[in-house]
Amino acid sequence: NKLILNFKSKDSKKIKNPKNFLGGKGANLSEMGRIGLPVPPGFTISTKVCELFYKDKKKLNSQIINTIKKELKVIEKEVGKKFGDLKNPLLLSVRSGARVSMPGMMDTILNLGLNDNTVIALANKTSNKRFAKDSYRRFIQMYGNVVMGVEGYLFEELIENYKLTKGVLLDTDLDENDWEGLINDFKKVVKDKAKKDFPQNVYDQLLGAISAVFLSWESNRAKVYRKLNQIPSEWGTAVNVQSMVFGNMGDDCATGVVFTRNPSDGVNEVYGEYLINAQGEDVVAGTRTPQYITKKARKDAKAKEASMEESMPKVFKQLDKILKVLEKHYKDMQDVEFTVESKKLWMLQTRSGKRTSKSAVRIAVDMVKEKLISKKEAVMRIDPASLDTLLHPTLDEKSSVNIIASGLPASPGAASGKVVFSSEEAERLNDMMQDTILVRVETSPEDIHGMHAAKGILTARGGMTSHAAVVARGMGRPCVSGSSEIDINYEAKLFKTSFTEVKEGDIITIDGSTGRIILGEVPTVKPEISGDFSKLMSWADSFRKLKVRTNSETPLDTKTARDFGAEGIGLCRTEHMFFDEERILSVREMILSKTVEDRNKALAKLLPHQRKDFVEIFKIMNGLPVTVRLLDPPLHEFLPKTEKEINDVATVVGLPLKEIESRINELHEQNPMLGHRGCRLGISFPEIYEMQCRAIFEALSELKIKKIKSAFPEIMIPLVSTEAEIRIMKDLVVRVAKEVQKDKKVKLDFLVGTMIELPRAAIKANDIAKHAEFFSFGTNDLTQTTFGLSRDDSGKFLNDYIENKIFSIDPFISIDDGVGDLVEIAVEKGRKQNKKIKLGICGEHGGDPKSIHFCANVGLDYVSCSPYRVPVARLAAAQAEL
Ligand code: ADP
Ligand code: MG
Ligand code: MG
Repeated sequence: NKLILNFKSKDSKKIKNPKNFLGGKGANLSEMGRIGLPVPPGFTISTKVCELFYKDKKKLNSQIINTIKKELKVIEKEVGKKFGDLKNPLLLSVRSGARVSMPGMMDTILNLGLNDNTVIALANKTSNKRFAKDSYRRFIQMYGNVVMGVEGYLFEELIENYKLTKGVLLDTDLDENDWEGLINDFKKVVKDKAKKDFPQNVYDQLLGAISAVFLSWESNRAKVYRKLNQIPSEWGTAVNVQSMVFGNMGDDCATGVVFTRNPSDGVNEVYGEYLINAQGEDVVAGTRTPQYITKKARKDAKAKEASMEESMPKVFKQLDKILKVLEKHYKDMQDVEFTVESKKLWMLQTRSGKRTSKSAVRIAVDMVKEKLISKKEAVMRIDPASLDTLLHPTLDEKSSVNIIASGLPASPGAASGKVVFSSEEAERLNDMMQDTILVRVETSPEDIHGMHAAKGILTARGGMTSHAAVVARGMGRPCVSGSSEIDINYEAKLFKTSFTEVKEGDIITIDGSTGRIILGEVPTVKPEISGDFSKLMSWADSFRKLKVRTNSETPLDTKTARDFGAEGIGLCRTEHMFFDEERILSVREMILSKTVEDRNKALAKLLPHQRKDFVEIFKIMNGLPVTVRLLDPPLHEFLPKTEKEINDVATVVGLPLKEIESRINELHEQNPMLGHRGCRLGISFPEIYEMQCRAIFEALSELKIKKIKSAFPEIMIPLVSTEAEIRIMKDLVVRVAKEVQKDKKVKLDFLVGTMIELPRAAIKANDIAKHAEFFSFGTNDLTQTTFGLSRDDSGKFLNDYIENKIFSIDPFISIDDGVGDLVEIAVEKGRKQNKKIKLGICGEHGGDPKSIHFCANVGLDYVSCSPYRVPVARLAAAQAEL
């Protein structure tokens, strides 16, 4: 393989994974060229060279340098200009491009090849001195910053001061002499800060820029982004060297960013922004507020400045046509960068556009309708994890809100939190479990960690394609951008609107779907599942084999889950029914009683409550299975803690305080999660499990007698590790069932099974399956017990494990393959013993797409997850089959 490839090279067609080798940007530039779109000539230095660069102690070896020079000759010929020439100089852009787009992570350098002499040549050649000087100062700015490490604000400050002195507002108000002066100032700053002259040799410039791109792969902000997005550091980046085209030569020039469909809501319309007489980063940097591409968008936004459709109708038409070609070719919504040089359109980049989940669903469904993709492809297109944002609450329109300002609806969803003005503060409060809204003039890649920690993002500057907007959409964080109505004062830690002042720590709500900024917290409402979303889900349902149940014990959660498509309950944790204020007293009475009689008395008080809960849940889940787990946690979890709680119990039980306290001490356990819990409680205090079974069966009888359709109960014994435990517990359940059936003169159907959550249970699954009609893998505990790793304490050091690459991901989030092996053993042995055995999973992993793939592969019958993850699981289960 050649290490460096011209965009037009036929060799790039032969590469198996062009994106891996050429990076996303390079692969698409050469593909656009191949399908006949206007792309400025250039070449790609492959990711392989990045690898060599790091091997050679961060140097470009001479062979590579020679190849670069050779490829440069090819470009020179193509465009008829010469690099460093004093008559007609070729200028270059040096652009990074990893396999996947890492917005703003790597730095691009424009106008490379300008120096004190070529700038004069450029001015003469184009008869445009202002343009030439403007380009040169931009180059010094970018190169000084990216390659020589001079902080960017130093240049910006010089420009701002200059404008102040001159009494103008916009960069475009500065003329060639102004820029000339600034160029000299810039060079002084560079010399001063970098202790080196700004390089005048164009080849030094080029090699410096290429090295800088490679070096930026290991920059802190790139590392943070990779970590958040699980991008391996071995991938490296490619570098694209491309001849420049100029959007800053005058009013018939422009630069812009455009999506082939609306990235917020998915509507099939061109959506984007552009700036006349501007270059590259101007649009995304938020320094000038960009204008709309289409007339419609401009009118919708009630903006005055002409849209591109109005100001450059011919070029717009051409662009529109190219966008259609690109969508047809890539069969996906594209995010495109373009530049217009003296009325000529040039395509600078295309890639699959980032979009909100709402937009992703709509686009996938529309593209099936348009026959661009199949239903299978549509289902595969949607990242199940991204559905989360669609399922999350929006502002309750009925509540009155105190709107203090508004901005652009940059990323949908509503969020409330304390105002913070720095990423550090957002992180600090997040560690303390506090919700924040990160408020910034604009964001930069340095803010990614803070944007992650915050619940929402608000910026004062920047458009729909600004850094804040793009990154927030990618993360699924609500974002309002470009709110010119707020005036931020970082020093005083506050922002002002025309009539109010908001200080750090005050609570605000932002609505990323409408752009509203609201004082205080606003109630939210649950989203509805309908339209495109339910269509996509119905396609998913037609492909999946795994059933999807939910973990739920309250009627509200059960109802939510049912609306989201849950096909039963996979885990109903009865202890959650105990925490109610009224009941907890009886629970404590039961725990603290010393005799069976006393305990029975307390249990009798609990029975009607449990029965009522079951009646409700069984009604909602009519016709569907409901797995009820008998009491699982160690009793000490229910113990009274405060003085008042202890007094209350003492009164009810009628025992002196001292005795209660000593009983509490008795129940204390050193290691409760491995202590007296699960079926061990059922062995010691069978009367507790008897009461729970009675509540279940009486609830069923009640419904049966009233002829109300009920759910199908599956009674689950937790924390079993031996055959004897499940045998004894099953006998207990069957005995109580018989008693109730006899009592109420009804016949009841049910199953008895167990959780597999201890390694011994998995390994001895054949013995356990003799008595169990189903297994449900409790993978939270199974992970904890397999690793001997405390779920409740591991958070403190898990990060070290991830940083040292011991874990690639938290094993409590995505199932570990060792734990997976135990599941497989249990599945195999369980099925061998009992062909009809039902198999499911009810740990957190049941809602994790990767783990769901695993469950489908080992042939489980269902996964069970929290209500809001049900649609996620339905989609992931479908993808596992495709
Ligand atoms: P990013 O990955 O941050 O988008 P790019 O490499 O796409 O960086 O460059 C950023 C911007 O620089 C582009 O959107 C484009 O406007 C401008 N640019 C890049 N290459 C050229 C070029 N050859 N001619 C003119 N402008 C360019
Ligand atoms: Mg780009
Ligand atoms: Mg458990």
